[in-house]
Amino acid sequence: MLAAVTRSPGEMVLEDVSDPGPARAGNVIVRPEAVGICGSDFHLFSGDVGALSGSRHFYPRIQGHEVSAIVADPGDAATVNEYDRVAIWPLLPCGSCYPCRAGRPNVCPRFRLVGVHLDGGLQQRLEVPASTVFGVGDLDPDCTAFVEPASIAVHALARGGLTRPGPDSSGPTRSEPDHGGPDPSNLAAKKQVVVFGAGPIGLAVTLAAAAEGARVTTVDPVPARRDLAERLGAEHVTWASHATLKDEITHWTGGDGPPLIVETSGETTVLPQAVDLVSPAGRVVVVGMSSDAVPLRPGAFPEKEIDVIGSSCATAADFQAAIILVRANRASLAALFSHHFPLTRAAEAFEFAMNRPPDAIKVLVTVN
Ligand SMILES: [Zn+2]
Ligand SMILES: [Zn+2]
Repeated sequence: MLAAVTRSPGEMVLEDVSDPGPARAGNVIVRPEAVGICGSDFHLFSGDVGALSGSRHFYPRIQGHEVSAIVADPGDAATVNEYDRVAIWPLLPCGSCYPCRAGRPNVCPRFRLVGVHLDGGLQQRLEVPASTVFGVGDLDPDCTAFVEPASIAVHALARGGLTRPGPDSSGPTRSEPDHGGPDPSNLAAKKQVVVFGAGPIGLAVTLAAAAEGARVTTVDPVPARRDLAERLGAEHVTWASHATLKDEITHWTGGDGPPLIVETSGETTVLPQAVDLVSPAGRVVVVGMSSDAVPLRPGAFPEKEIDVIGSSCATAADFQAAIILVRANRASLAALFSHHFPLTRAAEAFEFAMNRPPDAIKVLVTVN
């Protein structure tokens, strides 16, 4: 069977690899159909594995962690049947570390990710643990591959206190006494949210927040991406210098600034901007990855008593919520799937996506 194998940094080759055979105990065999390419894939593809963690062995690796697939052999799994379409929750936590015990497996320091530490979707058959496989009903393959990035958005909004965290999710309000953090009973209705970045994650955050009834402003320099944000429910879209943006957002919120800002752009300059913009008692959730340093004014934290927190990956409950979100919005999400390449041209798809042409939103590799 065919697989696109990342042999070493920058070198992805199409190879004939051995078929996994029947599912082993606890595992499921699936036939991938569509695999989304994401910014985090570029780190492994280009050899920037420091961003991924530690001294683990990454090559050769079959990449692909945003996977739509059809179940070929359900093995002993009780949750799926042959021919079911599934999305893959790519996270395999250790189960015993502090974050795992605290119900936050998405930041387990020893987690393994399908498509990063284990082989992923860029192959004709894939064996994965049954715990990673979630049925999506009649959802189409592109939307199914988008469940994984949508789960990042769902998790970010749970972290932001906009939505209630799921039963095994990680909202900071779940087990802590309320010291002035967002009230878990405070619904998202009409809450004003500013989203920085309108790439796939920023667009998914825009959609998820709007779907909860929040009023969203999305900030991005690319007009086509701002248009998509509007189509997905943003009340307002913009791009401006910080001073102009501050005036605009302050006016939009009636003077106090937004109670929630979600940074998805990975631009280093956004965090100090967000700390400046956010309302007193508000919250900034950082999803975008950047390894550069940036000066922040610590006084802003006690003056406004703001929360500035991170959000990473997603829990199983977030993933389930993302399936519901994507299923309910499949028609408007179709506009995001801008480019498709067959598995035989997977390397070209990566090179294309890494060049970030402005008309490329979500680039997918079709398999089988
Ligand atoms: Zn991703
Ligand atoms: Zn762990």
